[in-house]
Amino acid sequence: MIVLGVESSCDETGLALYDTDRGLLSHALYSQVAMHEEYGGVVPELASRDHIRRAIPLLEEALAGAAIAPQAIDAIAYTQGPGLAGALLVGSSIACSLGLALDKPVLGIHHLEGHLLSPLLASDPPEFPFVALLVSGGHTQLMRVDGVGQYEMLGETVDDAAGEAFDKSAKLLGLGYPGGPAISRLAEFGDPQAYKLPRPMLHSKDLNFSFSGLKTAVLTVVKKAGTANVCEQDKANIARGFVDAIVDVLTAKCLAALKQTGLKRLVIAGGVGANSQLRAALNAAAAKKRFRVYYPELEFCTDNGAMIAFAGAMRLMINPQAAQRDYGFNVRPRWPLDELKVV
Ligand code: ATP
Ligand code: MG
Ligand code: FE
Repeated sequence: MIVLGVESSCDETGLALYDTDRGLLSHALYSQVAMHEEYGGVVPELASRDHIRRAIPLLEEALAGAAIAPQAIDAIAYTQGPGLAGALLVGSSIACSLGLALDKPVLGIHHLEGHLLSPLLASDPPEFPFVALLVSGGHTQLMRVDGVGQYEMLGETVDDAAGEAFDKSAKLLGLGYPGGPAISRLAEFGDPQAYKLPRPMLHSKDLNFSFSGLKTAVLTVVKKAGTANVCEQDKANIARGFVDAIVDVLTAKCLAALKQTGLKRLVIAGGVGANSQLRAALNAAAAKKRFRVYYPELEFCTDNGAMIAFAGAMRLMINPQAAQRDYGFNVRPRWPLDELKVV
């Protein structure tokens, strides 16, 4: 069975083809970051318009990469939510129009389920059950995953997401958008002793997170250092203080979640999962505490169509009725993961 995946929840347009026999056949991706950079964040209206421009060329690219004709597609999975309403509408209307034109069923996918299952696309995928840390631009959640559609929330952020903290702190340091990768690179040159920033909720005895205070702490030190004349070394030191604090908290909470559940497999998903300092800390902890940690391929950490095609294929393998010839594209910009239907 070949599933086309369509992702358009935010500022990446992704189309991909996944074959349940042969695995991922192809994926095509366009990131709008350069367009949004001058505004310092995603402009929803521009995002929607650009998804429209990119979708068909990307579909053609994916079909050519897989060397298949459109009729070979058996079902179409699209991101139904959560995300920007206008951006979601573009992906869902493209998926539904294609479904109608090709007479193929369609299936709405929860974007976070896509992220959660993305490590299963790797060559050495984890088995269920596992603990998943979902760290993206909009979410920071720890989950127990027993199978496709079987997710139990263990803890989440009470304010900012980890990716948001990366982006906002990077902005305070004048590093552009999205700042996660930039602040991470800069931190490599920083002195870890220069700034000790707070580790919010490290000892909260639950699996929740809070990152808005850390962002405020960055603001305070940037102000103290004098915004106009923070030298490059000082910027690197602040970046290092920030990254060390956030990595400490994320690592400690992952360990606590493994302890609480008694599981030995940890899966990291979402854009912040691409962070090299986080990976180094988790790998070190895994070696010491004897658990295994799994990551998506780097290119599948941030938004992409492959994870949506894959999540669709997984759902369809369990329940072939999950996709329907129902082309009334309903998007769900707000959609808590615990309202997701079991397969
Ligand atoms: P959500 O999935 O919650 O709706 P999103 O789709 O915008 O949000 P992702 O695409 O998964 O989020 O991830 C984007 C986030 O990942 C951004 O905040 C970005 O700064 C961060 N990020 C990407 N690479 C890195 C990195 N190397 N280090 C730190 N953060 C990173
Ligand atoms: Mg993005
Ligand atoms: Fe995402």
